[in-house]
Amino acid sequence: MGSKSRTTRAPKLKPYSYRGVFRCGECDCMITTETQKGHNYLRCTKRRGVCTQPYVREEAIAEQVREEVQKVSLPSAWVDACVQILEKERTHHQHAERSSVQKLESEITTIEKKLDALLDLQLDGSITHTEYTNKKQVLLNRKTDLKEQIAVFERTSDNRFEPLTRFLKSLNQAGKITSRGNLEENRDFLKKIGSNPSISARTLCVPRRSPFALAATWHAAACAAAASGSVSVDCPKVRRVWDLNP
Ligand SMILES: [Zn+2]
Repeated sequence: MGSKSRTTRAPKLKPYSYRGVFRCGECDCMITTETQKGHNYLRCTKRRGVCTQPYVREEAIAEQVREEVQKVSLPSAWVDACVQILEKERTHHQHAERSSVQKLESEITTIEKKLDALLDLQLDGSITHTEYTNKKQVLLNRKTDLKEQIAVFERTSDNRFEPLTRFLKSLNQAGKITSRGNLEENRDFLKKIGSNPSISARTLCVPRRSPFALAATWHAAACAAAASGSVSVDCPKVRRVWDLNP
């Protein structure tokens, strides 16, 4: 009964896919969708007054959305190659970190021995109490510093590579989404690519967020490589583009 009364009070809005997604590139009002003669059109709501933007067919925008998603997609061969490079780097980093941590730990052991020796000196009267406390404080400060450095390694070592791996895999998904051609799937991926997408002169404009700006350069490189031959982990083209990764 509750749901019945709700539907009578608020009639269901037409399920337009691009509702609330775009703003007008001219006047910054929301773009709305309406149906005319069986076709969906997107148009500026013109809530702020005069705006000269024309209507645009939903299909035309859907195609541009699909192109935007396509532009950041990455073929499986590239994603696999990049993930392999990433795995190598992860292993390399892990070894480097382990030896750094070992160095820090051995310095801590040395400091503890020094603290013992210092206490002996103070107990047998070789140094004054002031000398003892001053030197002890220096050693304790250094020990705290070393422990903090170890904690930083432990915090960052596991999770540094995972977001990038996930991101690469999502770029491969982008390609699959464009070939499936589902309007909502493409729309949802577009929302990840950029904030504040707008339409002006029937043309979509999506300022890419930084990782996707990088993905677009990968995509371009992948297209160039595909035109000229195969792709592998040691492919210098993959390597060169990969090294752009900040
Ligand atoms: Zn407008």
